[in-house]
Amino acid sequence: MESRNRTISISPWRGVSSKEWHDWEWQYRNRIRTVRQLAAVLKKTPAALKKYQTVARSYPFSFTPYYFSLMNAADDNDPLRRQCFPDEREINFSLGGVADPLEEERDMPVSGLVHRYRDRCVAIVTHMCATYCRHCNRKRIWRKGGIEETRGYMERMVDYVSKTKHIREVIVSGGDPLTMKDGILDWFLGSLRSIPHVEVLRIGSRVPVVMPMRITRKLCDTLRKHRPLWFNTQFNHPNEITPEAAHACEMILEAGIPVSNQSVLLRGINDNYETLRDLFYGLQRISVRPYYLFQCDPVKGTDHFRTEVRSGIKIMEKIWGNISGLCVPQYVFDIPGGKGKCPLYPGSPFRTMARETGEYIFDRTGEVN
Ligand code: SF4
Repeated sequence: MESRNRTISISPWRGVSSKEWHDWEWQYRNRIRTVRQLAAVLKKTPAALKKYQTVARSYPFSFTPYYFSLMNAADDNDPLRRQCFPDEREINFSLGGVADPLEEERDMPVSGLVHRYRDRCVAIVTHMCATYCRHCNRKRIWRKGGIEETRGYMERMVDYVSKTKHIREVIVSGGDPLTMKDGILDWFLGSLRSIPHVEVLRIGSRVPVVMPMRITRKLCDTLRKHRPLWFNTQFNHPNEITPEAAHACEMILEAGIPVSNQSVLLRGINDNYETLRDLFYGLQRISVRPYYLFQCDPVKGTDHFRTEVRSGIKIMEKIWGNISGLCVPQYVFDIPGGKGKCPLYPGSPFRTMARETGEYIFDRTGEVN
């Protein structure tokens, strides 16, 4: 791949062999997770980064050397840096938001399994991620670490699904399920696949974006066995569409697995026409379907990322008017309280909605209270 030499010349990993750099387990092991490690990569003293320590007590941070290599770390406004560096605004809780606005914890018949819609459920198989995205709507689970990733924990999910005959689709999510080893993933997917009423499996993973070397031939052979399987990822900025990421998506596609993208609209990162246009064009170029653009959920610790719904619609109006329909995702809002997704488009009953009072009040009839 063209970028093999570029990556390993990056300080402080200068001297790391190309083989190591392209090994996902090396990337995962060498994630930047402490202020001391962050100080080393930024060439600062740990004392100068004390503010990050304070944020990390509530919301830990983690990112791969690969993802770090894509950003201009010296620029506070770099769109990739902003997605993974802690920010003091995350712990300004007066800004509003709740830990679990979609009330997933309420709809868990067994620990970690969200069953809200009759025909499908979400299995939160791990709390670990290669990179913790600061805007994540499950940032409440980060501090739990890997404590629940046991066979028994997942067996209870399989048991529930096998007894619930109207579930036809299982979404394997997290955390990031692809931080798990191939063997356990194979066992879990295989257990679900052997349930006669489970027709479709889906994986939600940001690994193609933040640690694309995780997509190995062996992993693809494993995933291929459990088709029909769909793969959803999350590119938020065109700078994330690298040759490595494109190659990872291509491998998944070659295994016969469709790849779709669910971006999040993020203030200061992608909330303008040009960036989203380039992102959606870039996704189409690598055969990844732009599926959803999410309005950022009102999650505690993410208020600084949230845009007004009306400004999102304004950007989308330009997108709808100017770029090919194949590149256009559906702009949606996940209604707090687990009431489902609402499409946002001009002329929809939701067009005038905005965050006026610190709370979103949505109603499927179109009334804003
Ligand atoms: S990879 Fe997914 S679950 Fe993990 S922090 Fe990012 S958005 Fe959240």
